[in-house]
Amino acid sequence: MISYEELGVTPLINADAHLTALGGSTMPDEVIAAMQRASKSFVDVVELQESVGRRIADLTHNEACYVSSGAAAGIVLSVLACRTGDDVRLVSQLPDRPPKREVIIHSSHRIPYDPAVRLAGGQLVTIGNAMQTFFWELEAAINDRTAAVLFVAGTHLAGGSLSLEDTVAIAHRARVPVIVDAAAQLPPIENLWHFTRNAGADIALFSGGKALGGPQPTGLILGRSDLIRACAQNGAPHQRFARAMKTGKEEMLGLLAAVDRYLKLDHQSLGRQYEQTVAEWIGRLADIKGVVAERAYPNEAAQPIPRLRLRLDAAVCGMFASDLVAKLRAGHPPIAIAFDPPDAVLVTPDMLCSGEDETIACRLRDELGRRGEPQ
Ligand SMILES: *Cc1c(COP(=O)(O)O)cnc(C)c1O
Repeated sequence: MISYEELGVTPLINADAHLTALGGSTMPDEVIAAMQRASKSFVDVVELQESVGRRIADLTHNEACYVSSGAAAGIVLSVLACRTGDDVRLVSQLPDRPPKREVIIHSSHRIPYDPAVRLAGGQLVTIGNAMQTFFWELEAAINDRTAAVLFVAGTHLAGGSLSLEDTVAIAHRARVPVIVDAAAQLPPIENLWHFTRNAGADIALFSGGKALGGPQPTGLILGRSDLIRACAQNGAPHQRFARAMKTGKEEMLGLLAAVDRYLKLDHQSLGRQYEQTVAEWIGRLADIKGVVAERAYPNEAAQPIPRLRLRLDAAVCGMFASDLVAKLRAGHPPIAIAFDPPDAVLVTPDMLCSGEDETIACRLRDELGRRGEPQ
């Protein structure tokens, strides 16, 4: 039987974040079952993509949906869609033409995923600075070559940008579509329709392989049906520009099952469970000298999920925060937690299997040198 262990790869406990480098997410049984069923027969993939898209659009109260191979692929596809529409003559000119290729982005929204814009032949045009942006800067950036505005959602980035509502109002006055990168903005579930229906954005992108618990290489492109049609024109199974980012029938059905499941979860009860785990961690670690254990909220992507923050006074507890991260990762089982510079670590409760919260508490006490003994 092929397994991680047989390959010499040790599974780890993920208390850091839904990071692709750590495997993204684990898949619930319903999702695996849907993928397994999908894998058993051949099917017309164009028909399936449309049909899965219609179903997810209905579930998420959107006009239309396209299943991409991740949110980064969603950036590529939606920028291509804004550049070409569903006109195959324009699609055939990619990537340096058609001339409509500029994508406006706030400085405070420059993220490690924005090279996806250039992968679509797009050129980033940056407005504002890390701390502020004025509406006339957006107005001045728009011209005949503007394909779209790419807006990265999350209150952690809001300080340096215009509001999404103002961005949409200004862009739409010039008939420029707004793409929202909301890859990690779940929970709350309402975000699946908030950015498009409430805030008026043309497209919203989500990762399928983060909190949704779908297959790792999936993402949702939600929004305007003409742009979704344009995404389909640019993507697989056509041998066109985004063919290199295809999704299979298994991923399509797996993501549909994941969305369906996610909408039925009791998110309030999950939230209470996370609060309880964090409170218990704080209780277990409160007496360690040189360590302050506290609740941190919201998380790194400004999601409404509490985390444990441990602030370390290295002179007293004998360890730097970065060393604690390395020690947990090097132990058995390896545990991934986040470094919060300069002197803290963050531990998140929302991706743990049963019992892992206890393992983490014990290992933190061990590493901090107290071996479970109160001082
Ligand atoms: C995770 C993330 C992405 C990339 O998502 P994938 O589904 O892994 O391709 C893009 N943008 C933001 C803001 C993200 O958090």
